[in-house]
Amino acid sequence: MEEIINENLILPMVALRGKVIFPETFVSFDVGRNSSVLALEEAQKNGGEIFVASQKSAFTEIPTKEDVNAIGVVCKIMQMIKLPSGVIKLSVEGKYRAEIVSFNQVVPFFKAEIKKRDYILADATSSEAGLRLAKNAFLEFNLFDKRISKEVLVNLSEREDANQFIDNALTVLLIKDQKCQKILDEDDTLKRLEDFCALIKSELEIIKIEKKIDAEVKSRIDKSQKEYFLREQLKAIHGELGDNEDEKDTLEKKIKDKKLPKEIEDRVLKEVSRLDKINPSSPDYSVILNYIDWITELPFNECTKDTEDLKKAKAVLDSDHFGLEKVKERILEYISVLHLTKEIKGPILCFVGPPGVGKTSIAKSVARALDRKFIRMSLGGLKDEAEIRGHRRTYVGAMPGKIITGIKNAGANNPVFLLDEIDKLSSDIHGDPASALLEVLDPEQNSTFRDRFLDIPYDLSKVIFITTANSLETIPYPLLDRMEIIEINGYTEEEKIEIAKRYLCPKEIKACGLTDDNIRFTTEGIKEIISGYTMEAGVRNLEREIGSVTRKVAVTVAEGGRKKRTIITAKKVNELLGVKKSFEYRKLTEDEVGTATGLAWTAFGGVSLIIEVALTKGKGEVSLTGKLGDVMKESAHAGISYIKRNAKKYGIDEKVFAETDIHIHVPEGATPKDGPSAGITMATALLSAFTGRKVRSDIAMTGEITLRGKVLPIGGLKEKALAAVRLGIINIIMPKGNEKNISDIPEKIRKEINFIPVENVDEVFENALTKE
Ligand code: ADP
Repeated sequence: MEEIINENLILPMVALRGKVIFPETFVSFDVGRNSSVLALEEAQKNGGEIFVASQKSAFTEIPTKEDVNAIGVVCKIMQMIKLPSGVIKLSVEGKYRAEIVSFNQVVPFFKAEIKKRDYILADATSSEAGLRLAKNAFLEFNLFDKRISKEVLVNLSEREDANQFIDNALTVLLIKDQKCQKILDEDDTLKRLEDFCALIKSELEIIKIEKKIDAEVKSRIDKSQKEYFLREQLKAIHGELGDNEDEKDTLEKKIKDKKLPKEIEDRVLKEVSRLDKINPSSPDYSVILNYIDWITELPFNECTKDTEDLKKAKAVLDSDHFGLEKVKERILEYISVLHLTKEIKGPILCFVGPPGVGKTSIAKSVARALDRKFIRMSLGGLKDEAEIRGHRRTYVGAMPGKIITGIKNAGANNPVFLLDEIDKLSSDIHGDPASALLEVLDPEQNSTFRDRFLDIPYDLSKVIFITTANSLETIPYPLLDRMEIIEINGYTEEEKIEIAKRYLCPKEIKACGLTDDNIRFTTEGIKEIISGYTMEAGVRNLEREIGSVTRKVAVTVAEGGRKKRTIITAKKVNELLGVKKSFEYRKLTEDEVGTATGLAWTAFGGVSLIIEVALTKGKGEVSLTGKLGDVMKESAHAGISYIKRNAKKYGIDEKVFAETDIHIHVPEGATPKDGPSAGITMATALLSAFTGRKVRSDIAMTGEITLRGKVLPIGGLKEKALAAVRLGIINIIMPKGNEKNISDIPEKIRKEINFIPVENVDEVFENALTKE
């Protein structure tokens, strides 16, 4: 039996570590310390009641009086199982709260005198309200912390007594012992409820934070584990498919090695990283790969070094071309400025002239003179602007435009880029290539040229663009505005002979694998080729015919049939090239009525223009046939009208006009540029037809006519004069207003020609028509 002193009990005591026992609860715990075991044995002997109080610190191994909390719980021992290790598994039922009054014994185990402590109850309403709040807090807590079973929760939520609820709830929750002790110490029920709610809420916060941190850590681990796992899998797949795993690394290295501007590099690296997510056998994969390939191959920083030596540059230009002094001079100026400023200044050079005068080859020489790469792009017939700017990558089979392709092929960012035949651009529904070209050529814009396929800016400002054209007529104005026109005119026969001797013959001889020991061209031979087989302003056909001669000689040499040198005389030319080509339609052989020789300008240089007039019985109608433009038709009407008004002066019966139909025809030959310069020729042919006076066949003419019979100046006198001489016509009627242009014509030709400057048509008729 326990001892009772002044209503106080004296009971053996166990100091509990890390746990607090509450009244009216069932608890199990292990007891290991010897003092505790002895205390239990003592308790067993005396009816099984024991006083249990918590240690202030769980770490104290051998507690003294001061180390235990004063308030504890009197417990009834329910079960005691001694394990082989000596540890006792103890189950107790908490009975009531009690406070240590004094210690009766400390060794070998504690014995304390204790006094029961009752709770101070609150009024029913406050208690109920407090209890409700406490229960809510408890349930909310359990929504987060799911360790407590449903049955226990139901059991607890049904408790009506506030203290019972608090004590049992704290027993099932795993809350730090010191916090629980505080609530065990409290007598006032309302205060206990408050403290309980506060404790639960703070625990809830802690749990929420714990959970959040836990989730973050978990997701981080999950994500990195997942990525790792997937990458490993992908590697295995690539390995299985025989793909090159290192491809991506190689591409990345290649791109970084190119030292691209940062934003471009990032852009391209992003494309590389996209490769990872795409199936290598899908078309998208090869599209991206192709794109990256273009970027790595394109010269961004790679460039060639310009020749510093101007003399060398001049020597190159001279060695490649005969004559062309003005052109070479302008090119040297251009190169000098480039040397001094180190940047490309001024307008784009545009070489304009008939075919075969060396426009392309002189551009090639510019590249050679500067030691730059050369690229040629023909714009003839180009309709689609995508050819210049490329197609977007979304397009099937998309490719960059010809500009970027050319630069890539050159392998340097500063080539000489020839845009050939800029006058042959056209446009259709696929956009306007001229505006795309403008972007390429305009120094204000071309440092950030954006090809649609590449979709990144590319700097074209270091490229030397040169353009060529046969005629300025069809070049779109905005383009023309940015170009400096350098005219290259047709060559005279002497010039052609020199070009052939110095350049074309050696070139063709070499091309056929022959040497000077096999073949020699005489001047007469070359002359014969020029006059008998070519009729052109340039030398392209001449080059072709010389090639034809050398090839024929090469055949005999190869067959071993000829050991001696073949001398190309005029006769030999006829033998090798066969029948002379006929250019008869371009020249009148005898004086005729109603037919006059005009001179016209075409994209191929100057040509003769035979104009025929036929009069038939009729009602005064006029018909115009052949290659006539609108302006030429107007000239015809002006001529007719002039003759009708001046019929008397020329001895024509005015009645004739009403009874006669006039037919004017321009036979097909070359296509002349539409213009008014055939005016005087038409008037001459008309007057000849009405008067029966013949037109001299050894005279050619050019000039615009007004209604009052004045002769106005025309363009292209030089080309027209060269054409006349080529045809063997030396008398040229020309407007007086064009006298100043005579000095443009090479002196040798000038001397050969008999220029007849005129101010009005009467002078024309006087010179061109025979007397009878
Ligand atoms: P274009 O571009 O004006 O139509 P090319 O440049 O193709 O003419 O010239 C045709 C050929 O004539 C080329 O082989 C070129 O070398 C040669 N040629 C033209 N003019 C000359 C010249 N002045 N000196 C030497 N060769 C020339």
